[in-house]
Amino acid sequence: MAKHETPFLDQLESGPWPSFVSDLKQQAEVRAKNEAGVEFQIPVDCVEDLLGVVELSYKHGRTHWKHGGIVGVFGYGGGVIGRYCDQPKLFPGVEHFHTMRVAQPCGKYYTTDYLRSLTKLWDLRGSGITNMHGATGDIIFLGTTTPQLEEVFYELTHNLNQDLGGSGSNLRTPADCLGSSRCEYACYDSNALCHFLTNEYQDELHRPAFPYKFKFKFDACPNGCVASIARSDMSFIGTWKDDIKIDQDAVAKYIANDEAYPANAGAFRGSRDWGPFDINKEVINLCPTKCMWMEGDELKIDNSNCTRCMHCINTMPRALKIGDERGLSILVGAKAPILDGAQMGSLLVPFVEVNPDDDYAAITEIIESIWDWWMEEGKNRERLGELIMRQGFQKLLEVTGIEAQPQHVAYPRTNPYIFWKEDEVEGGWERDVVEYRKHHLR
Ligand code: SF4
Repeated sequence: MAKHETPFLDQLESGPWPSFVSDLKQQAEVRAKNEAGVEFQIPVDCVEDLLGVVELSYKHGRTHWKHGGIVGVFGYGGGVIGRYCDQPKLFPGVEHFHTMRVAQPCGKYYTTDYLRSLTKLWDLRGSGITNMHGATGDIIFLGTTTPQLEEVFYELTHNLNQDLGGSGSNLRTPADCLGSSRCEYACYDSNALCHFLTNEYQDELHRPAFPYKFKFKFDACPNGCVASIARSDMSFIGTWKDDIKIDQDAVAKYIANDEAYPANAGAFRGSRDWGPFDINKEVINLCPTKCMWMEGDELKIDNSNCTRCMHCINTMPRALKIGDERGLSILVGAKAPILDGAQMGSLLVPFVEVNPDDDYAAITEIIESIWDWWMEEGKNRERLGELIMRQGFQKLLEVTGIEAQPQHVAYPRTNPYIFWKEDEVEGGWERDVVEYRKHHLR
């Protein structure tokens, strides 16, 4: 028999999709039965009380978690988010219900043993409820009491070789894609760079000294599996400088609908009959910059106009490959809509080589020049993207010592006020624009 009636929450279980309410009810039962005979360190009925307090919040239309009360572990300024219930008499099991952020391994590679030790620890010293993973990427341990914080921290750091993540006004736990550990599109080793910067900036991660949160995310190719362009103050996206490699024989096989060459590696074609592959419809006409065309049987790409969107490569992976001169682009200033609405990252560095041999010096130099500026000029709780909006992208270029480049233009292909005639153009990228117009804007 449930401890609290939860009619509002019960509604959230209807429908075909998974429900956090069902998960919580299941966890509440596990704790109540306590089959393993575990000596829980926080109340057995904390999950029941969690359901009760959330139900009450739905009923009252306001939260029953209190603001305030700083908790943490010795030596760290982040990693624990204090949470207290304002109805401790009604819900004693969640009087304290602190969250702990645990740094996820690079690429989120786990062994089952490791996961078991984490859940065992959290069953004993917390509510047993986890969030895999939080929005920043960390493993989230949801709900424990103040006396358990140091215990969990000790166990993590001493016996599980595991660190807490970031929270508050500091560097948040850096997050990355699988990168070259599994992906043929990877333009750099995102795991290695993420690991290096996590170690390099331990102080910034654990001792909040910034105006507000700061996130690094690493996508090893422009497919952006961790969506760094939208989710991080500083986004590192793999790219290449030279040409897309074309295997014309493989192109011909795609065009001939050879079974061994299914478009999108067959990923989207299995569920429905899309008809035969049509290179014009599915690749050439969908190229965002219209820089591809067929010359006879040969596929051509005007690489100077390719924005590395990955569409053609994703569609014909056996025929098209990323180039060999690989590195990454750095974008800055993405954020969720706290002030002034959501922002995507703006391109700051179009290309930088990724060199572990000199400890990624070219990258850390840029990071630190940005932090110096932001820490000096940023207002309390002002994200980097907001400072860029307030003081201008030009200012960012000044403080980082980066020269303005065509790639910094926010909407280069939509500005209707710049036209060149052929005889005005001497060469370089202007010539490419004319060439492009000749081919594609007839
Ligand atoms: Fe066009 Fe994108 Fe392919 Fe570049 S990567 S050629 S922009 S479809």
